[in-house]
Amino acid sequence: MNLHGQIALVTGASRGIGRAIALALGRSRSHVVVNYRDNQAAAEESLAKIVAEGGQGELCPFDVAEENQVEAAVKGIVDHHKKIDILVNNAGTTSDSLLMRIKPADWDQVIGTNLKGTVLCTKIVSRYMIRQHFGRIMNLSSVVGQMGNSGQSLYAASKAGIIGFTKAVAREVASRSVTVNVVAPGFIETDMTAKLPEKLREEFLHAIPLGRFVTCEEVAEMIVFLAGEKSGYITGQVFGINGGLYM
Ligand code: NAP
Repeated sequence: MNLHGQIALVTGASRGIGRAIALALGRSRSHVVVNYRDNQAAAEESLAKIVAEGGQGELCPFDVAEENQVEAAVKGIVDHHKKIDILVNNAGTTSDSLLMRIKPADWDQVIGTNLKGTVLCTKIVSRYMIRQHFGRIMNLSSVVGQMGNSGQSLYAASKAGIIGFTKAVAREVASRSVTVNVVAPGFIETDMTAKLPEKLREEFLHAIPLGRFVTCEEVAEMIVFLAGEKSGYITGQVFGINGGLYM
């Protein structure tokens, strides 16, 4: 896929899936804006890897849940590059506990980052995409948002919310050639899943028809396809990459 000249913002690109997406977009020759919130050293490593592979990009720290920060960051990108073509709403977090133990702070953290963050970044970036009559927005959901998971009700709510949000926005912006799609991975080996109890991880492995967890690179390949010119007629869709865990 050749995305030469395209400006791509990837939220949460310092680690895990976001880093793999940023690297894949860099290999596809887009200019990658590497967002993160806290972990500057990891974000610098992501950018160094992009450059080492012949790509180009820049760092752009902001909290996706803070509207003022998103506004300022996106304005900075557009002031500098004169456009923004690709948005990957990847930044995410989880705080797992049974329903009865959920605290207001868990709600703020999980819904705030995953759902509010996706809404804010999409709202602010799509404003420019609508004006330029082009844009590709990819939102990271999860198989958990499609099928639920005990102990992850808040996370499931945030990720299911992203699916409904995507379909509604896809209808709003389609006339301006802006597409909005969801990529919903199954379980991947990242910092996030490292926190899952071992017993739960084993149970999931047994339930996956293809018998293994998905890799970050497999998710990134789907993102690159959706960012490219061959996916122009695809919008409002949910792409599960889950080894058949949810059909
Ligand atoms: P991860 O390894 O925990 O990395 C999370 C990333 O999000 C980091 O780059 C982090 O930045 C960033 N981030 C967190 N809160 C942020 C905020 N408020 N503002 C800006 N950046 C923020 O996560 P992951 O496992 O790669 O997951 C990435 C996405 O895929 C998430 O949306 C997740 O829900 C989804 N997903 C993951 C899995 C899985 O099995 N891992 C499965 C399905 C879907 P810092 O480094 O600065 O903290």
